[in-house]
Amino acid sequence: MNTNHNRGPARSLRAWLRHLQATDRLATARPGIALEHELAAVAKKLDGRQAVLFPQPGGHRMPVVSGLVAARSWIAEAAGVEQSALLARFQHAAEHPLRCNEVKSAPWQAVVHEHFDLRTLLPVPKHSEHDSAPYITAGLVIARNPDTGLQNVSINRIQINAADRMALLILPRHLHAYFSMAEERGEALPVAVVIGVDPLILLASQAVVPVDHDELEIAGALHGVPLDVVKCATSEIRVPAEAEIVIEGRLLPGVREPEGPFGEFPKYYSPRESREVIAVDCISHRLSPLYHTIVPAEMEHLLLGGIPREATILSHLKRSFTDVLDVHLSTGGVCRYHLYVQMRKRSAGQPKNVICAAFGAHYDIKHVVVVDDDVDVHDPSQVEWAIATRFQADRDLVMIPGAQGSVLDPSTEHGVSAKLGFDATKPLKYEEHRFTRVRIPGEQAVDLEAALQPLAAQAIEELLRE
Ligand code: MN
Repeated sequence: MNTNHNRGPARSLRAWLRHLQATDRLATARPGIALEHELAAVAKKLDGRQAVLFPQPGGHRMPVVSGLVAARSWIAEAAGVEQSALLARFQHAAEHPLRCNEVKSAPWQAVVHEHFDLRTLLPVPKHSEHDSAPYITAGLVIARNPDTGLQNVSINRIQINAADRMALLILPRHLHAYFSMAEERGEALPVAVVIGVDPLILLASQAVVPVDHDELEIAGALHGVPLDVVKCATSEIRVPAEAEIVIEGRLLPGVREPEGPFGEFPKYYSPRESREVIAVDCISHRLSPLYHTIVPAEMEHLLLGGIPREATILSHLKRSFTDVLDVHLSTGGVCRYHLYVQMRKRSAGQPKNVICAAFGAHYDIKHVVVVDDDVDVHDPSQVEWAIATRFQADRDLVMIPGAQGSVLDPSTEHGVSAKLGFDATKPLKYEEHRFTRVRIPGEQAVDLEAALQPLAAQAIEELLRE
């Protein structure tokens, strides 16, 4: 295996966990934490700080892991780049995919179950208060175009319905297109649900690329070496060789079962509705597999979706506006709805054009703030400062009623949403110092080691005496 070519520490889930452990970012729970709510609650408590490994969750022999990426810096680290280079690195990988390397065997083929009960074989947690059932939340759903065999990878929430049945949410994107092709012919669509991969494969699965672009090839480009894949037992689907667990099954034509409610990324519930169904045929896993769960709406969930979107939005905006420098989907906006754009303004009115283009970049974007190049879009306080001091509502606001928004935003009317843009840039010309940000000369260069010196308590007492 080409482990020596990888630049980052995220060649496999286990390699990444060892790296987190070595840098004090992997917590371990006491054995036996309950799968219903308790596991998610513990992971949530450590969200943004540490990943967690749960031995024997609910008495189950298979450990669960959660929180593989807790901050943007962890993802940059996995990709082997500085944070400032992360979006460019991701976009380059999306545009320069590496064809996968097919191998004959993989560790996940060690144990094969043909007779099983999903509800007991895997330690699937129930996360939020009103969730209908245990949900697989970190499963890569891999399917092939029924005509061409080209693959698609997506992460779909998957509800456990019975011993060998699951229902899932399929948004109107690529998996939906492949399944529609099969269903129109009355055929089932083979799928593999892959659990337990490294953070770069998870990130690549969220790339906003056209249909028939295999996200596993983008994962290879992020690794810097073609991804090893192996053929499934019951279909032609190729899945990552490094995976922990592979569930093979078929999306059934003409079959729908109730799914939900489920606590989703905006921190609200998706309602119960009729959804597509997977009949499971076999489950394979490593000798001692790890089960990965993503706690919905926590940093791992938000970042894995947010960063590929940022990369796509930035490249979209740069095509028309070369002076756009950076973008950020803020955490408070669930890494989907609030976009901050940093630009070097060259002509009056330009930020409003950028706002309009941003609404066109993705229908989820609801509020856009454009700031100057002296404002850090990754710091919400700085963006708020720009709105507070450079924005006038009667002059700098763009409002578009009745546009397409996110159906998961409960304030929309079935996904129909108003859009709001803030031009929080300063004017191109202004009288001296009016918009000059206050700086203290030498502030950046201060060396505290050299500037500070401890003083004995008695000496301080003397200085402060009345
Ligand atoms: Mn796709």
